[in-house]
Amino acid sequence: MIVRVALDHPLAALYDYRWHAAQRPCVGQLVRVPFGRRSAVGLIFEVAETSDVPAERLKPVEQACEAMPPVSAHWLELVAFAASYYQRALGEVALPALPAPLREAERWERLFAREPRFAPTDAGRRALPDALPARATALRRLAGALIDEGVLGASQARAFHAKAIQTLEAWSAQGWVVEAGSDRVGSGVEDARADVAVDAQRVALSPQATPDQAAALDAIAQASGFESFLLYGVTGSGKTEVYLRALERLLLVRPDAQALVLVPEINLTPQFERTFRARFAHLASDAIVSLHSGLAEGARTQNWLAAHEGRARIVLGTRLAVLASLPRLATIVVDEEHEPAYKQQEGLRYSARDLAVWRAKQLDIPIVLGSATPSLESWHQAEQGRYRRLTLATRAIADAVLPTVRLIDQDLEKKRGVNTIEGMSPTLIAAMRARLERGEQSLIFVNRRGYAPALACDACGWVAGCPRCSAYAVLHKADRTLRCHHCGWESRIPRACPECGNVDIAPLGRGTQRVEEAIGGVVPGARVLRIDADSTRRKGSAEILFDNVHAGDVDVLVGTQMIAKGHDFQRVTLVGVLNADSALFSHDFRASERLFAQLMQVSGRAGRAGLPGEVMIQTRYASHPLYASLMRHDYEGFARAALTERREARLPPFAFQALLRADARTLEAALAFLDEAAASLDGLPGAEHVTRYDAVPLTIVKVMNVHRAQLLLESGSRAALQAALRAWQPRLREIKGGETRGLLRWVIEVDPLDI
Ligand code: ADP
Ligand code: ZN
Ligand code: ZN
Repeated sequence: MIVRVALDHPLAALYDYRWHAAQRPCVGQLVRVPFGRRSAVGLIFEVAETSDVPAERLKPVEQACEAMPPVSAHWLELVAFAASYYQRALGEVALPALPAPLREAERWERLFAREPRFAPTDAGRRALPDALPARATALRRLAGALIDEGVLGASQARAFHAKAIQTLEAWSAQGWVVEAGSDRVGSGVEDARADVAVDAQRVALSPQATPDQAAALDAIAQASGFESFLLYGVTGSGKTEVYLRALERLLLVRPDAQALVLVPEINLTPQFERTFRARFAHLASDAIVSLHSGLAEGARTQNWLAAHEGRARIVLGTRLAVLASLPRLATIVVDEEHEPAYKQQEGLRYSARDLAVWRAKQLDIPIVLGSATPSLESWHQAEQGRYRRLTLATRAIADAVLPTVRLIDQDLEKKRGVNTIEGMSPTLIAAMRARLERGEQSLIFVNRRGYAPALACDACGWVAGCPRCSAYAVLHKADRTLRCHHCGWESRIPRACPECGNVDIAPLGRGTQRVEEAIGGVVPGARVLRIDADSTRRKGSAEILFDNVHAGDVDVLVGTQMIAKGHDFQRVTLVGVLNADSALFSHDFRASERLFAQLMQVSGRAGRAGLPGEVMIQTRYASHPLYASLMRHDYEGFARAALTERREARLPPFAFQALLRADARTLEAALAFLDEAAASLDGLPGAEHVTRYDAVPLTIVKVMNVHRAQLLLESGSRAALQAALRAWQPRLREIKGGETRGLLRWVIEVDPLDI
């Protein structure tokens, strides 16, 4: 018997091994095999009778992971599709999709070790609280945990008291405790329950659905088989409520079904998890699990296994969760489907949203893509009738209306001699003060973190730059450093200009820290909180900061796009937007789509709970049509105009793109490789339908002393582009030496978001 195994290696697709264990090998089984001089973990993709490899060179499988049920054929098909579409080797996709401990055979035994579990009886629930002396604190806590959690694994029990197992056995003899089967070590109750009570009141009772919600739910419920729904609902229209009810229904009708809910950001998972746990409180604690890169490895592995073994009914996760093994997947939700965060930018560069749609089609199940500002790709699909559009036109809460959006015309103010203070118009400052007086909250959106995006010398024009990147160094005043946001380089702020000695060097532009500081000055008495990647570096700190906002301990919240998304702030009535203009004139054709979505999202934080909301956008381009659409909350008008432009320019979604990116020690080497690569496309299948653009340096051409350039390919036919890319790869591997010396690596990116 021969097994064909995928290994995490960029070249061959599958490797043949001999199988000589007693039981038959299983497709989807995890195995350890000899690879080179070491062992490697791989996945069996095929079982065969014969191999092209000569028998004497076939090596035997060393070990099979029998404790883990094999992954399904559907899952193998999913990773095979992802590998092929995104131009990677099978194993490069399949293996990294598994949690790390599964990829290390030495850890299998511990991972799947089983232990007894204990549960209190009714008699135990009554007797235990009074049965223990007050000074036996550890045992009292053990009893408390047992009663609160309903079941404890042996290892959890031992954490309370070294002799916990003897104690539990003694309680068992008393009839207070029973052994409740066995389970995997550590797979017991999670700590996620703690916060449920807070939200339980708010969401446990589902509100009466609005007519729009009801219509959307009916449509989703009637789907038989694959259907893509585009849930187009203004901010605050209650899209989450639609997801909750759709899943409620599903889990009711199909008691074994699983659902996958994707959210764009790790920061949004705790809020979602609480909401879902509260609504589905009747489910076992491991029936709702989250999957994202912020989880500790152990928790992520247990959650992954809960999904894989079908115990998890609802899996909430970020983009990586789209590759989770879900043998009974019956529906998929992608919240904020337009978010660029669904695109993985390293390793396998995939779009989780696109893979989710593929997965739904593969399994013949419905998928709901939710957004207030759908991606133009999805909107176009809906216009074409391929996705079914479900519209939630108004906010769900009766008296919550969309905020009024007004522009603060900075050119006009300047002409009239109105002075800004630290970049803020007096109109905006007065509005913040008024909110403070009324006990309402303001939110100020700044799209840059740090104190100032640059530090400059007025005398000679010097600007502080990163020595390793072609980028300015960002001034961080709090810890008196200059930092590069591209490579992490850091240095002390110089006392004087290193070029001319001038001591009057000054910050250029404004980041979140500077705005935070300025608001402290112009809105006296305000409690100002900043939320950005710097203030939330420690694990869990974002959640604590957001809790402060929800608790009303904050008057003005300053932040980057982290504060723009998803959060349901109840008392924010003013949203201010500073320096958004730069995106209006970007060379990236998606910049305006992104800006519009971002501003709609951040505006959507205002006035959610019935208090009237107001949005003020400071701009020097008050007559720009993007702002006009925004003031009317007119996503549809914006999308229509943008799609017309895209159609005329033959840009996505009217064309398909791929990039070849090259990294090299010199820009010349990167460009030389790309030129040669472009020439080598000649004559390949599909290439006649593919347009090649000139190889160009990236905007930030140098990062960490590595020079970066790219070559854009475009085609009206996805199939032609795919065929050309596939045939191209072997040729690319042959390009080396000569002028491309210094080339470090190259990568193909299909459907790139950043051009
Ligand atoms: P979205 O995700 O569309 O921005 P949310 O799902 O966050 O909107 O809902 C906005 C607010 O409206 C939440 O506070 C939610 O509890 C509330 N809500 C949703 N549906 C209803 C409903 N049918 N009746 C009353 N309140 C609702
Ligand atoms: Zn100088
Ligand atoms: Zn740098």
